[in-house]
This record gives sequence, structure tokens and C-alpha cells, in this order.
Amino acid sequence: FAGDWHFIWASPSIETLPPMAGLEVAFAGRSNVGKSSLINALTGRNALARTSNTPGRTQELIFFDGPKDAGLRLVDMPGYGYAAASKAKVASWTSLIHRFLQGRATLARVYVLIDGRHGLKDVDLDILKTLDKSAVSYQIVFTKADQVKAAELEQRIAATKTVLAKHPAAFPELLMTSSRTGAGMPELRAAMIRLLDE
Ligand code: GDP
Repeated sequence: FAGDWHFIWASPSIETLPPMAGLEVAFAGRSNVGKSSLINALTGRNALARTSNTPGRTQELIFFDGPKDAGLRLVDMPGYGYAAASKAKVASWTSLIHRFLQGRATLARVYVLIDGRHGLKDVDLDILKTLDKSAVSYQIVFTKADQVKAAELEQRIAATKTVLAKHPAAFPELLMTSSRTGAGMPELRAAMIRLLDE
């Protein structure tokens, strides 16, 4: 899994997507959820995805290709739920994501990142609905698990599973990760590799 992950493409609009190839897994989440850190930890590349102090800045779908011939591609979706985003920006985000999810036959799974400290928020539930509508299979990944006490995390997982039971396209199991400690990374990599075998 580790190896030469590299940037291949950035699409600010649905008209500029790269040709479909291999198998894609996408990462979605609220701004600041730890998405860039997770992509970097997952690929073992410190600065593959840009971590940013100005959330809501990138409104692009960013594509990374994995080691040659592995056939796996990561898609970094623009962060959502940034409080200061204008209505127009939210609308353009929604349209881009919606159209991407509906027309992408190579997209095998979306990992929806949720801050382990906060659990599901309303904006996250909106995304789950969009994914259900598009019938794209998705799985919840908790981030920043190192910041949450074990008992609290257990409670949050149970509450989240209850919500997921009402979402038809959701994978019932969640993954717990920390980019800081590396927890959950082997499991997430293994899950992605299994998709290649399906
Ligand atoms: P993005 O906006 O979703 O791409 O989020 P970033 O990856 O830029 O991370 C946002 C903030 O959360 C940064 O200050 C990171 O250092 C911090 N962060 C990300 N992942 C973790 C983690 O696993 N543990 C802890 N404690 N902090 C994290």
C-alpha cells in the first residue's frame, strides 16, 4: 500500500474530471476534521494532501494515484460545513459533489470522516443523505481518536451506529483512527485493499 502515492489531478468543476480508471475511494468530511492529516498518514507522505489553516479554501476534487499498477486512486473531496462559507459557495460545493457521486462508476466507496470528539453533526447527516440518494457505499471513519477517552468513544460509536442503521448505503461498522498515533491506519488500508478484490 505504501509507496509512490502522487498527485495527478485537481478538478474545480465536474467538466474537468480525469478519465475514470482503476478503483477510486473518496474522503469527505467537515473542514478541519483531519482529512488532510489522514490522507498523509495513510499514504505515508507528509505533505501529499495540504493541511490548511484556512478551512473551506479548496473547492476542488483532488486525485492521487497509488503505487503503479495497484489500480487504487484516492479522491480528496473539498471540506464542507465551514461556518463562514457563503451560500453561493455551499451551493457550488453541493452541486459538484452531487454530480460527482452520481456519475462516477469507478467510485467504490466514500469514507466519511467524523471528528471523534464531536460525533455526527447536522451537516454530516446531509452528506449521508446525499450519499444514500446516489447509492454510493460509504463508511464512517472517526478521526482524532487520541483526543477522546475510551468510554466516551464507545458511547459515540454506539450512538453513531444507531443513526447509521437508518441509512441504507452506510457500511454498519465504523473505523477509529488517529493520524497522530497511527491508530486505525492498518485497518483502513486493509479495508481499501479488500475493495480491490471485490
Ligand atoms: P482538514 O481540514 O480536514 O484537512 O484537517 P487537517 O488535516 O488540516 O487537520 C485539522 C487540525 O486537526 C490540525 O490542527 C491537525 O493537526 C489536527 N489533527 C488532524 N488529525 C489529528 C489527529 O489524529 N489527532 C489530533 N490530536 N489532531 C489531529
